[in-house]
Amino acid sequence: MDLQKNKDKIFQKVKLAAAKANRSEDSVRVVAVTKHVDSQLTREIVRLGLKDLAENRVDKFLTKYHDLQENDITWHFIGNLQRRKVKDIINLIDYFHALDSVKLAREIQKRADKKVKCFLEVNLSGEESKHGFSVDEVDDALEEIAQCDKIELIGLMTMAPLKASPQSLAELFEKTNQLRKSLQEKNRKNMPFTELSMGMSSDFEIAIQHGSTFVRIGTSFFK
Ligand SMILES: *Cc1c(COP(=O)(O)O)cnc(C)c1O
Repeated sequence: MDLQKNKDKIFQKVKLAAAKANRSEDSVRVVAVTKHVDSQLTREIVRLGLKDLAENRVDKFLTKYHDLQENDITWHFIGNLQRRKVKDIINLIDYFHALDSVKLAREIQKRADKKVKCFLEVNLSGEESKHGFSVDEVDDALEEIAQCDKIELIGLMTMAPLKASPQSLAELFEKTNQLRKSLQEKNRKNMPFTELSMGMSSDFEIAIQHGSTFVRIGTSFFK
């Protein structure tokens, strides 16, 4: 595994995709998903300059968090989070990408010591197995989440279906960006909705074309 080479390739692709979309390279934040590698490899990726790291399991996150404490890391939690585990991590992370229920929002409200930057997870592909709100559910959910002043909704997060064609990925990401824009225009308190967390190893270039500002990349770094 040549981490430096993988990293260079990824950043080159990000740069090209951004240029193609008339966006600056710095408008895309590359988040390294370290869920499949140990603390040592995670440290190596940090040494290459990646400071945004993501985990999707509470136990593994806590291990990494402690192992890498001496580093100046921005932590992203990207997995489904059980309510009973909110208290274990909510004050240690910088971004939470998977806010997928009002009940979870209320638990975060109860446990957070300060405001938490969150992405509302949406499922616009209609895939049953996916977490996240459908378009129809978003307005009611936001009414409720508006009561939670510890939650700052900075954007939307979505996961694309694994086997989607480039065309349907493009449509899904565009639809997500349009929904984000409409929420941003509402100008609600604590709900700037300026960001989009979408795109993984297999589809981040398409996501960038459609406005993604946080790409979550695992496999392509560590192959
Ligand atoms: C694992 C994971 C990723 C990264 O996926 P890769 O295909 O390995 O790049 C991104 N987002 C979430 C929510 C994940 O669980």
